[in-house]
Amino acid sequence: MNGLMLQKQLLVSSLIVHADRHHGDTEIVSRRVEGDIHRYTYRDCHRRARQLANALANLGVQPSDRVGTLAWNGYRHMELYYGISGMGAVMHTINPRLHADQIAYIVDHAEDQYLFFDLTFLPLVKAIAGRCKTVKAFIAMTDSAHMPQDSGIACLLCYEDLIEGSSSNYAWPNFDEDTACTLCYTSGTTGNPKGVLYSHRSSLLHTWAAALPDALNCSARDVVLPVVPMFHVNAWGLPYVACMVGAKLVFPGAGLDGRSLYELLEAEQVTFAAGVPTVWQGLLGHLEREGRTFSTLKRTVIGGAACPPAMLQKFQDSYGVEVLHAWGMTELSPLGTIGTMKYRHLTMSREKRCAVQSKQGRAVFGVDMKVVDANGQELPWDGVTSGELLVRGPWVVRNYFRNEGGNPLRIDADAHGWFPTGDIATIDADGFMQITDRSKDVIKSGGEWISSIDIENIAVAHPAIAGAACIAARHPKWDERPLLVAVKRPDARVTTGELLAYFEGKIAKWWMPDAVVFIEAMPMGATGKVLKNQLREAFGDYLLV
Ligand code: ADP
Repeated sequence: MNGLMLQKQLLVSSLIVHADRHHGDTEIVSRRVEGDIHRYTYRDCHRRARQLANALANLGVQPSDRVGTLAWNGYRHMELYYGISGMGAVMHTINPRLHADQIAYIVDHAEDQYLFFDLTFLPLVKAIAGRCKTVKAFIAMTDSAHMPQDSGIACLLCYEDLIEGSSSNYAWPNFDEDTACTLCYTSGTTGNPKGVLYSHRSSLLHTWAAALPDALNCSARDVVLPVVPMFHVNAWGLPYVACMVGAKLVFPGAGLDGRSLYELLEAEQVTFAAGVPTVWQGLLGHLEREGRTFSTLKRTVIGGAACPPAMLQKFQDSYGVEVLHAWGMTELSPLGTIGTMKYRHLTMSREKRCAVQSKQGRAVFGVDMKVVDANGQELPWDGVTSGELLVRGPWVVRNYFRNEGGNPLRIDADAHGWFPTGDIATIDADGFMQITDRSKDVIKSGGEWISSIDIENIAVAHPAIAGAACIAARHPKWDERPLLVAVKRPDARVTTGELLAYFEGKIAKWWMPDAVVFIEAMPMGATGKVLKNQLREAFGDYLLV
């Protein structure tokens, strides 16, 4: 017997309709690439998204056509989020930090019909325009006064002209909630980038789960600043979450340095901000140098890479900002786990609670996870036994766009498909998962595994160290041994011996790095993570010579 409830397709457009209807005068504030601060409301955003949908239809964009964006976090990007997906086309957010060849590959692979870009990325667009065979026109996200002259791009359109020339009279179409809405490529540190194609349904379910109190805990009383880019897994879903709950949104544009972020956080009275550890390092550095504190910021979600306990403590103890440590990946839309406390954690000592918060957290409802050994056997939730982390759920990838790389799923004895994350983790009795490594970064010393993340977390707590990466270096006796690659803070002095002494008593003796190499700067990837493969290429033989 079926239930007798109304059927309503879960569509992305319903989010902006809701935000307009119930929070119409709530603000969206953006730092623009033109240099000024722009502010308008959800009502304005909805109107312009409808104008954009009409403009796209006039350009001939059909349902399921891919439309690319190369843009910072800003109100025009927000309009594209809703205008493109809302009309039934697929928004393809492109990471501008990738190499131009990779971007040209991705645009071609996605068969993008149009490409919207912020003016910052004009040189990039010029470099790839000739190679993007499917792109009918490039659209500069600016007004006619700021349009580039003599760009050499064959078909270049102006965003504001498109909007102004289009009616706001547009009814969002109703269609199957399994229709694709967004396409996002993984950064492809190994092999070709792979496209993850989210559906309206998966995005809506993810939004509901992400907004919950034990997840991002967002409400209409929040002012949300997503520092995490809208070109990287939909800014962790925040442009959707903000509409669902009616939070004020603040977009940082290209101003991701500590000073610009701090100015915006204070001026707009931000209560909740989201970003990767490297960005927060810049912000904390600014606060320290200038002797500032936050007047409104209450919570920050940190993910994308492990949040070192030292950063967690600084936010919480020095600045009174609660840290939510989260784990996810492009293939998970991205939220998988988040480190919000359970009731019994509240009475723990600060140190013990910090240890729990340093883990990557417990699964949000909708994500099922387990750790398995090399034979696929499930391992105990004892917080010690580590294995490969597998996940499944309605916002976990089933297959990559165009079957790139083949079917990724592992089928278990019960015929359930699980997505192998490539992460090595433990899960404790409370369900808190802790990543010890990515499988390709794990250090295998004499057959035993050493966690590079644990070693890095200790290194960056040393006052002289600005950044650290621990890699597997080849070793004649033990196969691999940990080698610590570190960047000193400006003007700081520390010797190898002093740094290694700092580890004593903090880890098992056999986990001690065999050596330390100091470098000037960490090689960083397009999503703000250290490129350990480059470090392995450079220093993999360090212990052999
Ligand atoms: P990429 O394209 O680099 O894979 P993702 O954002 O999808 O970009 O990266 C996902 C990976 O990032 C995860 O599989 C995990 O290894 C790492 N990661 C994400 N969040 C955390 C975290 N909180 N702690 C440790 N590693 C993390």
